Amino acid sequence: MSAGADEPAGNLERRDCPICRRPTQTRYRPFCSKRCADIDLGRWFGETYRIPAESGADETDTPDANQDDEERR
Ligand SMILES: [Zn+2]
Repeated sequence: MSAGADEPAGNLERRDCPICRRPTQTRYRPFCSKRCADIDLGRWFGETYRIPAESGADETDTPDANQDDEERR
């Protein structure tokens, strides 16, 4: 006999889409649709791009440029 095994936590288990606050779909969780997931992704990109841009320490991470140079040799 286990208590709480068949009983969901109710509000605790319920998750709403952080974009439009609609019930999330298992397919697109934690969002309700691909559209909302895309929106959130865009948000992240916009924010993460700003941080390294100000730091200027992301210039050392360009292996692609080196590869192109080696191929020419
Ligand atoms: Zn949504």
